[in-house]
Amino acid sequence: MTPEFNLIKQHFTRPTRNTNLGVGDDAALISIGTGMELAVSADMLVVGTHFFANCHPYQLGWKSLAVNISDMAAMGANPKWATLAIALPEVNQVWLAEFSRGFFACADAFNVDLIGGDTTRGPLTISVQIMGEVPIGKAIKRNGAKVNDEIWISGKLGDATLALRHIQGKLILPEDVFVFCAKALHTPQPRVALGLALQDIANSAIDISDGLLADLDHILEQSKIGAILELKNIPHCSYTGFPIDLHDENFRTMVLAGGDDYELCFTAPLEKHTEILKLSESTKLPLKCIGHITANTGLIVHGLQNEILDIKETGFDHFS
Ligand code: ADP
Ligand code: MG
Repeated sequence: MTPEFNLIKQHFTRPTRNTNLGVGDDAALISIGTGMELAVSADMLVVGTHFFANCHPYQLGWKSLAVNISDMAAMGANPKWATLAIALPEVNQVWLAEFSRGFFACADAFNVDLIGGDTTRGPLTISVQIMGEVPIGKAIKRNGAKVNDEIWISGKLGDATLALRHIQGKLILPEDVFVFCAKALHTPQPRVALGLALQDIANSAIDISDGLLADLDHILEQSKIGAILELKNIPHCSYTGFPIDLHDENFRTMVLAGGDDYELCFTAPLEKHTEILKLSESTKLPLKCIGHITANTGLIVHGLQNEILDIKETGFDHFS
């Protein structure tokens, strides 16, 4: 066996659950259920852009799959299969073992099979493709938001960005707060159960990877409508011992435009309000109404005194 195939066998081959033929042949084989359509998406992580060269390989393995699973959650799809294309500067068995341990921990947590991929030498780059199932016509798209829909958010925003700013030396967090926020940054929890539950509730949805305002703006553009958000209603930083002050523009920007949260932002008709609150209870995941959709295009954020905020930053853009 060649060293390359040995590496694939050792680190990237595991028993599968949802798959007819997995890693090892020229292609994998899968069957999708009757009445289902295949949701397909890919996300790439590049050293220096998405993660630091010295980051922990376990966390990198987890995150590279988790961010892809998050896209399935945002579609209301059930993630099932993934492929992994990886470029490695060198073969480091310890690094690879930790990377695959993190990757498969996430795969196991969300019942996803790794069914194939590619392994080459090059600057550390990880490209994952995810595939999932959704009943035909039930996927939650970005273009479905309606005037007067309420805008909802899961979980809390800004933890990952707080940790990132700390790592970058732009602010200093107390050790316990950093440890807490670093978990959000390195091992995000995609909201799959919520996405599935929203199939019959939400008119539109997106996952927050680049920042709330930037990602919500995708919904607004594709649905050709606008929105008003209430800053005081936006849930932020979940560490109780560290209250952050939204009067401070830096903190406000982290909550409104910080990325890497992987929470879901969705819109739903007013009459679904109670059902959504019940869903929040049954899933033990905070769901908060943060604003509503307007016929006028554009995005307005009301500040803490109800003033209209002057927004300078909406989120991360690779090419801006
Ligand atoms: P080919 O030369 O036909 O492209 P490869 O030698 O690249 O085949 O890959 C052999 C098998 O291992 C294929 O089934 C491929 O999908 C799988 N594979 C390669 N790299 C990875 C990886 N990083 N993760 C999972 N499967 C992989
Ligand atoms: Mg190949």
